[in-house]
Amino acid sequence: MQKCDVLVIGGGPAGASLAYYLAKKNLRVVLAEKKKYIDRPVRCAEFVPANITGLFDFKISGINNQVRILETYCASSKKEKFRLFAQTAAPGFILDRDIFVNDIVSKYENLGGKLLKCKKAVAAKHDSGYFIVALRKSFSQNYSYIKTRIIAGADGPLSFTGKLISVGENAGACSTACSTNTAFMYAIQQNPAILPNQPYCHRVFFVPYIRCGYGWIFPKTESINLGIGQDSASELKSTLGIFVNHLVSCGLLNPNLADFNKNKKIKVITGIAPVSGIVEKPASEGLILIGDAAGLCNPVTGAGIFNAIYSARLASETILKALKHGDLKILAEIKQAYEKELGPSINRALERKALMTKNWKDYMPAFPGLVRQSWVAFKDYWK
Ligand SMILES: Cc1cc2nc3c(=O)[nH]c(=O)nc-3n(C[C@H](O)[C@H](O)[C@H](O)COP(=O)(O)OP(=O)(O)OC[C@H]3O[C@@H](n4cnc5c(N)ncnc54)[C@H](O)[C@@H]3O)c2cc1C
Repeated sequence: MQKCDVLVIGGGPAGASLAYYLAKKNLRVVLAEKKKYIDRPVRCAEFVPANITGLFDFKISGINNQVRILETYCASSKKEKFRLFAQTAAPGFILDRDIFVNDIVSKYENLGGKLLKCKKAVAAKHDSGYFIVALRKSFSQNYSYIKTRIIAGADGPLSFTGKLISVGENAGACSTACSTNTAFMYAIQQNPAILPNQPYCHRVFFVPYIRCGYGWIFPKTESINLGIGQDSASELKSTLGIFVNHLVSCGLLNPNLADFNKNKKIKVITGIAPVSGIVEKPASEGLILIGDAAGLCNPVTGAGIFNAIYSARLASETILKALKHGDLKILAEIKQAYEKELGPSINRALERKALMTKNWKDYMPAFPGLVRQSWVAFKDYWK
C-alpha cells in the first residue's frame, strides 16, 4: 500500500496549489483526482484578480486575456433595456483555467509529487495515527488504498472530506445533505466563439428574473464566457435563453449570434458554488478542508479561485506545523486563519446576500437601489 504524509483529494485550483506548496516543503504528497483530465471540462467563468500572480513563486500559465474594467448593468424587468450602472477598475485575467491548473500540477510532479487520476476517494478509516483511504477507479469496482497521516479535502462544494469531518467513517453512505456547505449558487454557462467588442471589460448584469444572482459576459481573446448564476437549480437553461434574448434586444449581443443558444455544438456547462460562508468545522484531527470544500467562495460574486489558492497556502503552513510537532490537532487552527484572513470579506458578502434574498422580488421598480447595496462595485456594499 502506498504511504504518504498528505493525501490531497481533488485536483482543482485548491488541491493543485496545496500539492505544489507541500511538495516544495519536501513532504510526501499524493494528489488524487476522480476525473480523467485535470480541471476539464472547465466549469467556471475564469475571472481572477490580477494579484493572483503573487500567490506563486513562478510565472503562472493560462492567462487568456487581461481585463481592467468591471461594467455593471441593471434592468428592472426583461422588458426594460439594460443600462450601464457603473464602471469600476477591477484588474484581472480571464484564464484558460485548465491550462493554469495543469501547469501547477506539472510543477508539482516535477518536484516528485505523485498524481493519481480517475481515482475517487470513497471511504476512509482511521487506524493508529493513520488514515487508510479507499480510492475507486472510475467506471469500475477496482479499489486502491493509500495510507496517510493527513487528508486534505480540496474536493469542491460537495466535499467527501467535509462529510468525513461531519459524520466520520460513514461518510461514504451519507447523502449530500450532510455536506458541510449548506447553500449554493447554481450556474450555467456557454462559451461561444464570439469576438468580444470590448476585450478589456468584464460585464455583469442584474435583472430580477436571474434570482438573487446575475448574468455575465467575460471576454476571452476569441470567445466569451456567457452565463448566469442564481439561487435555484430550476429553469436554469430557460433563464439563460431569456438572458441571451434580452442582451440581443439591448444591442449588447450580435443578433446573428443569438441562436448560439440553440446550437447543439456549443457546449453548455453547469456547476455550483458554495454561498453559505466558511464551514463550521474546516478541520479535525488529521483532516483539513480548503477551497470550496471549506466554503471559501464569495457568497455574492461566487468567485472562489483566489480564495481556494490562498487557503491552500494557509493550510500548507498549518499542515507543516502539525507534522513538525507530531500533533494533528493543530490542524484545527486553520479555522482562526480562515476567519482572520478571509472572514471579513466572506462575512460581509454573506450579509449582503441575506439582504438580496430578503428583498428580491420578481418585479421591482426599486431594483437598482438593491443592487447598489449588494454588489461589490458600489460604495454602499463596502459600508
Ligand atoms: C459556472 C461557475 C463559474 C464560476 N466562475 C468563477 C470565476 O469567474 N472566478 C472565480 O474565482 N470563481 C468562479 N467560480 C467558483 C470557482 O469555480 C471555485 O471557487 C473553484 O473552482 C474552487 O476550487 P476548488 O479547487 O476548491 O474546487 P473545484 O474546482 O470544485 O475542484 C474540486 C476537484 O475535486 C475533485 N473531486 C471531488 N470529489 C472527489 C473525490 N471524492 N475524490 C477525488 N476527487 C474529487 C473534482 O473532480 C474537482 O476536480 C465559478 C463557479 C461556477 C460553478
